[in-house]
Amino acid sequence: MMKKDLYDYTISDVSELLLENVDAIVVVDPSIDAYKSIVRRGMFESFLKESGIYHDLILDLWFHFNDSNERVSGEYQIFADSTGIFKQKYSRRLRLFLENEEKPHLVQLTVYPFEDAGKYIFVMDEFIDNESLQESLTTKKISTIQNSYLFSMYIDLVQDTISSINVAEISADVVNYNLKYSDWRMMIVNMIWPEDQEQFLRRTDPEYLKKNFHPGRTSSYDCMMRNLEGNFIWVKLIFSRAQTTNESDYRYVFMVQDIHDESMELLSTLQEYEEKAIRDPLTGVYNHGETETQLNNALSHRKKSDDPVSVMMIDLDKFKSVNDNYGHSVGDTTLKHFARILKEVSAGEKSLVGRWGGEEFVIICRDKNADEASLLAENMRKRVEEYLFPDICHITCSIGVTELKPDDRFTEAFDRLDKAMYSSKQNGRNRVTVL
Ligand code: GH3
Ligand code: MG
Ligand code: MG
Repeated sequence: MMKKDLYDYTISDVSELLLENVDAIVVVDPSIDAYKSIVRRGMFESFLKESGIYHDLILDLWFHFNDSNERVSGEYQIFADSTGIFKQKYSRRLRLFLENEEKPHLVQLTVYPFEDAGKYIFVMDEFIDNESLQESLTTKKISTIQNSYLFSMYIDLVQDTISSINVAEISADVVNYNLKYSDWRMMIVNMIWPEDQEQFLRRTDPEYLKKNFHPGRTSSYDCMMRNLEGNFIWVKLIFSRAQTTNESDYRYVFMVQDIHDESMELLSTLQEYEEKAIRDPLTGVYNHGETETQLNNALSHRKKSDDPVSVMMIDLDKFKSVNDNYGHSVGDTTLKHFARILKEVSAGEKSLVGRWGGEEFVIICRDKNADEASLLAENMRKRVEEYLFPDICHITCSIGVTELKPDDRFTEAFDRLDKAMYSSKQNGRNRVTVL
């Protein structure tokens, strides 16, 4: 366009200038669920089509998500009103991801309804200096929060309505939905992990919310929920009742926060601690507490089923003299080697090895009767006898074996086991006794 003096510009100049400068202009007719692109520049050449389905456009914009191959999972479409009711001008900033691009495009979207809100114009502009703008818009902390919140809704239990809040901008603008809260809740429940659905329904029940939330009260819980791509992830569901002095005003903010990465990390830390809590630090086999628990489990299993279970107790012979002659540290090394032999021989035998205390070990042999267990015990005895231990060279062990009876109590079974082992010691050590 030719240069003019300021006061010579007219309305048609301005519309021409806008058409030249704005990145995208789209006209929408919600009644036929269609849009037509009037202007498409830069990133919008690929983001928009010449004409397309309005619902798809809304989904792409709403979820800041435009991977043309991956559709938003069906259930999530309930977060985007299929027609998008824009009664008034509406403006928001979006982060749009294009296929094969890592960095989002920051885009300002403004919607102008016309023909009594029967149709809309969508005007979209990309901010070119993406990063510096984002820095100036938000502190780092807020942007972390933005990234972790999947979506949030505004709920009015008295009106039974829901609206969507634009968390991406931490602003209060809302878009009204056609859905009632009561219906919306029954749709959302399908996105929750099946085992968590009952809890979700209980905690989103209007009566529950009314009863349990004083004005301003916030409460949350974690569960698994389908994400945009349809995979289950860990989320935190947060409910917060609006501050109000009116007793019969029941408005709530509902937020879903993505906590998947932290949850997985926490779970693996917990597993690590749990593992540590049941292991003997010196030998790596189960510790006394866990062995006792496993023995009790074996006893109660034996009561309920006909599968045989046997237990053996193994004690190193004259181990005290190892400490006395070679020192405590050689004694420790001997214990480690001894435990490793026990593990190796019982590997693949459905057997659990535990350290009962000192140089005394217990092995629970599942699916073994007394004869089968004593064969295994004999194997162990031989392996220990033949093994070349560091420094001390040779040491032997004495073993007691007993099969659990269906009506055994712990003390009875353990008494037999102890007696069997003691009898091996009495009869000259380095032997197996079954009782
Ligand atoms: P027996 O053949 O009758 O079983 O004789 P023993 O010497 O093996 O039995 P006793 O119960 O008299 O001695 C066990 C020794 O085991 C005593 C203790 O110093 C040693 N012991 C227990 N726990 C540990 C340990 O963790 N490390 C080391 N190095 N020694 C241990
Ligand atoms: Mg001993
Ligand atoms: Mg002992």
